[in-house]
Amino acid sequence: MTSPIPKDDLIDFVDEPGTDIVPAGGRGTLPAWVVLVVDDDAEVHQATNFALQNTILLERPLELIHASSAVEARACLEARGSEIAVVLLDVVMETPEAGLELVPVIRRELGLDELRIILRTGQPGYAPELSVVRDYDINDYKTKSELTHVRLVTALTAAIRSYDQIRTLAASRRGLDMIVQSAGELFGRRALVSFAEGVLTQIAALLRLEPEGLICARSGSPFAQQSDSALYIVGAAGRFRSHVSRPLAELGDAEIVHTINRCMAARTSIFEAQATVLFFSGEGGRSAVVYLATERALEAVDRRMLEVFAVNIGVGFENVGLFERLNFYAYFDPLTRLPNRVRLIDEMDQFLASSSDALSQSVALIDLAHFSQVNNALGQRSGDALLMAVARRLRSAFPDSVMLSRLVGDSFALFGPARILEPEALLHIFEAPFYARGHGVPLQIRIGLAPVARAPGGQLPRAADLLRDASVALGQAKLEQGARFCTYTAEMAAQAQQRIVMLNELRAALDFHRGLKVHYQPQVDSRDGSLTGAEALLRWRRTDGGMVPPDDFIPLAEYTGLIIEIGAWVFREACEQLMYWRDEGEDKLVMAVNVSALQFRQDGFVEMIRNTLDQTGAPADRIELEITESVAMEEVDKVVEQLEALRALGVRIALDDFGCGFSSLSSLTRLPIDRLKVDRSFVAQLTDENARSGIVQTILRLAQGSGMAAIAEGVETTEQAALLQSMGCVEMQGFLFGRPMAPDEFLIWMRQNRSTLAGEAGNPVP
Ligand code: C2E
Ligand code: MG
Ligand code: MG
Repeated sequence: MTSPIPKDDLIDFVDEPGTDIVPAGGRGTLPAWVVLVVDDDAEVHQATNFALQNTILLERPLELIHASSAVEARACLEARGSEIAVVLLDVVMETPEAGLELVPVIRRELGLDELRIILRTGQPGYAPELSVVRDYDINDYKTKSELTHVRLVTALTAAIRSYDQIRTLAASRRGLDMIVQSAGELFGRRALVSFAEGVLTQIAALLRLEPEGLICARSGSPFAQQSDSALYIVGAAGRFRSHVSRPLAELGDAEIVHTINRCMAARTSIFEAQATVLFFSGEGGRSAVVYLATERALEAVDRRMLEVFAVNIGVGFENVGLFERLNFYAYFDPLTRLPNRVRLIDEMDQFLASSSDALSQSVALIDLAHFSQVNNALGQRSGDALLMAVARRLRSAFPDSVMLSRLVGDSFALFGPARILEPEALLHIFEAPFYARGHGVPLQIRIGLAPVARAPGGQLPRAADLLRDASVALGQAKLEQGARFCTYTAEMAAQAQQRIVMLNELRAALDFHRGLKVHYQPQVDSRDGSLTGAEALLRWRRTDGGMVPPDDFIPLAEYTGLIIEIGAWVFREACEQLMYWRDEGEDKLVMAVNVSALQFRQDGFVEMIRNTLDQTGAPADRIELEITESVAMEEVDKVVEQLEALRALGVRIALDDFGCGFSSLSSLTRLPIDRLKVDRSFVAQLTDENARSGIVQTILRLAQGSGMAAIAEGVETTEQAALLQSMGCVEMQGFLFGRPMAPDEFLIWMRQNRSTLAGEAGNPVP
């Protein structure tokens, strides 16, 4: 229908190579430029073929595809649009404007913005509107007669060059987008393997290739026991996938291994015909190499993009190193390098789910008694050394089938066959002292045991349940005076539950001043029975009317820290009571108040005492604070400092329950203490026979030798009182003289005592 290109022109063309035309061959690695020829004249197709055969434009051959109608052209564009560089488009085909109408389809419908369009028409007079040329980004408009071979090549060259530029720009824009996006996505990955896989996928997407490659890095993750400089495959895609986590040397492809080693040594990326090898620099041996099987050399635009990518992602590798370390911290205790709680639970659950032996296993929780005191006394570094020594001793005491973990601070967990985790065996392990930086330190432990047992519903417990049960048992062992271990029972859970209820009630009692009362027990000079002081003793009546003994709720209050508030309340009550009795004429009376170790350790304790004294007007020299020996287990210097601060206020200090703790006498003599209280267990053991040689005598001598006063507590019989007196201990406290009493009872007792004394002065023992 339209006039064809004159044949002679086409022949001409072969003899007249254009400037951009280079001989074909040799550079076959670059893909051809795809040119779509759309014309309803078969001759035009033949002529174009003939004219362009063996032509190389901008270093690449051409591939022509043909369509003889707009409809056919559309099908081609739909199928291969993204590959097509140029469309040579006849305007008049099925309809006078069929070609022109295809243009908006290409640009708008198919969204093919990058390919170039050269319109061809047979009629020299026929030209599309300028606006069409502009709006549809038409490269060129030529009449067919204008397209002689030389002109055709010139027009195509210009179009292809422009296509290449547009595409380069678009690609780098896309690449940058992807780099920014992928960096975000990749940095979210915490594990090296997943990160590495992500990098491969992203690079492949960047190059629009199938991901086929691998990433190598040196080992040296915190998990590695010894540093090892071999390269490992940390991520892989495609045919390399099965090699993940294996040494590179075992890849079985000497050439790839060689190229990767070369890249690592040169610390720079290598672009080759079959492969792209990118170097990612990272700190401290964290460099990585990405090997991508590209099967063709990359274009310059892609190389630049990858270099930008490599710089960006290099940072990511460092982050991943960091994440790996974080990961280590997430599952291991950095001090002992033992698995932590999370890891233990994981492993226990796996074991419980898969082993047929589950029911013969058991959990043992081991808690080092008074470890924080030891830590304070010896210093943090020795404390750490001690924990490591404990970890080592525990690990070497059991076969690998026993899992060992440090849960927190001074508590360790063991999971293994119950017959191995016997409490006696565990206690035996701790018999010999531990050595930390030259010090031999004896450590006492408490053990909570929880054997694996089926739940009432028949199912096996989960690791977290077992650990919870073991810790209930451990809590029980801690609450029971002198207990070393405890095995979990269902009742224990109920008791633990009751303790929680009790604690809540105690909290409420404190908040609403309901049920908590302070009773007072007289302290007397046994020679004449005269009242010298009173000990404030806390009493708690629960809402159901039941009395709870302090030995039941005070350890609980200490365990939860509630004792700090309770103690402050007791002290205030006692001070107010003292002021009341002073008004009654008892101005020599000394008020003794118990202070728990937790209270004593707390910052602001001295402040609390001073404020309360100020506010109640109680004279400091009529106050005695009773501390226990466990306080003296702390770092001596600190304890001395705190005691001196208290004494500077004018209050006296007594050491309560003396003789039942484990204080070392040498540190005890350094403490500024006014009075020793002989524990009632020793008083109870007193007999005529042992009086001269026994512990009570020793304690009393120690007191005398260090210039301390002494008082015996728990005196119940006249015999005990007489024996104590004969040993030189005159101050006493006990049921023999008076039980702990409510304030009004105490007042009555006081008045009676006074009048008795007035009547029978000089009576040594009541
Ligand atoms: P503690 O400080 O050694 O108090 C003396 C305990 O011995 C009191 O027990 C008292 O009732 C009891 N007792 C006194 N004379 C005799 C006797 O002749 N025979 C016998 N068998 N017992 C006697 P209680 O009141 O049950 O207090 C027990 C422990 O609770 C106290 O021992 C003290 O450690 C603690 N406690 C009591 N009140 C407080 C307080 O307000 N704060 C603190 N932190 N602890 C307190
Ligand atoms: Mg006391
Ligand atoms: Mg006592």
